[in-house]
Amino acid sequence: MNKGISAACAYCKIDKTEKICLAEGGKGPKFCPTLNRMDVVKEAMEEYKKEKVREFARQASIQEGECYANRDVKPYVKFPVKPRVQEICEFARKMEFKKLGIAFCIGLMNEATILNKILVNQGFEVVSVMCKVGRVPKEKIGVKDEEKICIGEFEPMCNSIAQAKILNQEKTELNILLGLCVGHDSLFLKYADAYTTVLVAKDRVLGHNPVAALYASGSYYSRMMKPGF
Ligand code: SF4
Repeated sequence: MNKGISAACAYCKIDKTEKICLAEGGKGPKFCPTLNRMDVVKEAMEEYKKEKVREFARQASIQEGECYANRDVKPYVKFPVKPRVQEICEFARKMEFKKLGIAFCIGLMNEATILNKILVNQGFEVVSVMCKVGRVPKEKIGVKDEEKICIGEFEPMCNSIAQAKILNQEKTELNILLGLCVGHDSLFLKYADAYTTVLVAKDRVLGHNPVAALYASGSYYSRMMKPGF
């Protein structure tokens, strides 16, 4: 089924009422993975046959639906009602998770304290680890002095592998990422044993709202469309 064509849904211009991935009898362009990659879709569906994976996916979908109000009104106009932090708590409760982990960035210390309080108030046991855990100097991973944020000063590395391993040791059932840097978050996701969700994606300029640069890419952030910015 893989016809050697890369999947490129981001280029798809077919109206959503006619997309083959949304409408029965719909259509797709030549790069459509619904047309060309059903072998992979079938392979994925095998994973969902695993009881724990299936239950995780099922509860995630139920949670998704419950994030909207007035769902019985037709024609339906989307009415989202829950902030993500509430969504995380409700999903964790559905999964009967008791112990949650927070992996956070030093830049979001205050937010970590608040999140911790919310989770505790919602009845969870919480373990949290900040990125600078272990105070290992950046030089240990080959970072040069001129590559630090504060040149000429001691700077501990962001140790997201240690964050993941500590939460693994604590046997957290769901981890929550709070503002880890690009790349540090990737390492955390690779090394964490438990499932992880992201509450905050760090954006130092846009108040942790990275999508704003995409929204404004036709105006104030048009430089994003130019090679090399
Ligand atoms: S799966 Fe096919 S129809 Fe759906 S968005 Fe991707 S290319 Fe378009």
